[in-house]
Amino acid sequence: MTRFIFITGGVVSSLGKGLASAALASLLQTRGFKVRLRKLDPYLNVDPGTMSPYQHGEVYVTDDGAETDLDLGHYERFTGVSSRRSDNITTGRIYSNVIARERRGDYLGATVQVIPHVTDAIKEFIKSDITDEDFVLCEIGGTVGDIESLPFLEAIRQLGNELGRERTMFVHLTLLPWIPAAGELKTKPTQHSVKELLSVGIQPDMLMCRADREIPVGERRKIALFCNVREEAVIAALDVDTIYQVPVSYHEQGLDQQVCKHFGLAAAPPPNLSRWQQIVERIRYPEGEVTIAVVGKYTSLLDSYKSLAEALHHGGIANNVKVKLNWLDSQIFETEGAIHALEDVHGILVPGGFGERGVSGKIAAVKFARERKVPYFGICFGMQMAVIEAARSLAGLPKANSTEFGPCDEPVVGLMTEWLRGNQLVHRAAGDDLGGTMRLGAYDCRLLAESRVAEIYGQSHISERHRHRYEVNIEYKERLERAGLVFSGLSPDGILPEIVERHDHPWFIGVQFHPELKSKPFDPHPLFTSFIHAAVQQSRLV
Ligand code: GLN
Repeated sequence: MTRFIFITGGVVSSLGKGLASAALASLLQTRGFKVRLRKLDPYLNVDPGTMSPYQHGEVYVTDDGAETDLDLGHYERFTGVSSRRSDNITTGRIYSNVIARERRGDYLGATVQVIPHVTDAIKEFIKSDITDEDFVLCEIGGTVGDIESLPFLEAIRQLGNELGRERTMFVHLTLLPWIPAAGELKTKPTQHSVKELLSVGIQPDMLMCRADREIPVGERRKIALFCNVREEAVIAALDVDTIYQVPVSYHEQGLDQQVCKHFGLAAAPPPNLSRWQQIVERIRYPEGEVTIAVVGKYTSLLDSYKSLAEALHHGGIANNVKVKLNWLDSQIFETEGAIHALEDVHGILVPGGFGERGVSGKIAAVKFARERKVPYFGICFGMQMAVIEAARSLAGLPKANSTEFGPCDEPVVGLMTEWLRGNQLVHRAAGDDLGGTMRLGAYDCRLLAESRVAEIYGQSHISERHRHRYEVNIEYKERLERAGLVFSGLSPDGILPEIVERHDHPWFIGVQFHPELKSKPFDPHPLFTSFIHAAVQQSRLV
């Protein structure tokens, strides 16, 4: 029997609902339950794929090629359960499905309305693609009280009624602000937020209250009384020093015990938290420190590189070192002399990106890493930059460029209009829609025997997730090889270069895919482990 836990948020946004949901799921997992996490986003975009990273942070890509909310990244990192297309829905997608059905005549002449047609479509989504999961946790994006989230709240209210209390639970995450002048944690915003939820017919079963300090007994009692929640179901969600402390900390506050109690599972086996305790231990007591420069474009909003930052920290956990990240806007390297900012770092990483702004700065960073023998990791755009740099500086192709920036004489990176996915031929045209039309999701890759990546992965075949429109042009392979680039990973048909590396350098690898999407604290991605290891070696030299 699958039980549903609905997580809503109140008072303000950015309370860490995604993390709280992921942590709760991981706690249920440590008690032996099978879990799945879903995100319901109230905005009108069909998916976040076309949104600017400044607006929405990172776009998280699933194996089955969906462009989803970054919270799905937290879900995977905390539970290890691979997300699917069916784990993220937006108002935009719900409406486009409902309207498509209406056009087909599926509603048999009925007037199509928010209730029941839109709410039915939401409920259908919540209940779809579930097999033997014990718990499905659904996080509702946005803040209670927003106009946009109303249909979602109405849908989960209906589900609560239909499935009954023994199969549904409503968890509401709020904020208890500390007011220094009063010397108190204030409960009023929480009371108002619960009132707002009640006005749409939802009585929360549990409150998770974000606070920067312990909640005194008096305040806890007050919240319980005014919000009609049992006192022990008022859980303090206290600030912690690392996000991987969240499961342990919430367990100490009784989160999973209360959830089990709600569902009558009080006899469930106690959680085994050793995995999380070990990770936190390693983060808190590292044996050294390395500095990595991330030379990108969206460096002022760190949410745009969420998975990347996490994967680098996972590499640190694997090597027992703290990883200090130096976020640098690549445009600074377009100024003479600025490259010296890279003098003292132990590794340079150029991440994924789009568009021409800042490109010459990225190429300058690649050149610096190559010439000065600083470990270099190029991801997606960062691989393309490494190839363009090699073509221009070493292969005698000064006009080498990517057609992403317009037509050029030497398209070493170009638009692919056809490729194979398994046995299927995929077509794209230059003028296609921007949404959902890149090479997306998991693709297989063959590794060259005796290459550095084959050694790092310990495998000859891998599968990694993609999100890009342009590809390194295989036509230039021989010329680039003469310039010292080794094509160590190719698509199974040998047409799409997936990995390049240099053997005249301590660590220089560019990958067309996004390995950061699959890294987990308890299972760091081998490329990140190896890159941080190389940075540790480098730190002993400088
Ligand atoms: N802009 C490049 C492309 O579309 C790289 C994309 C990326 O880094 N994710 O191919």
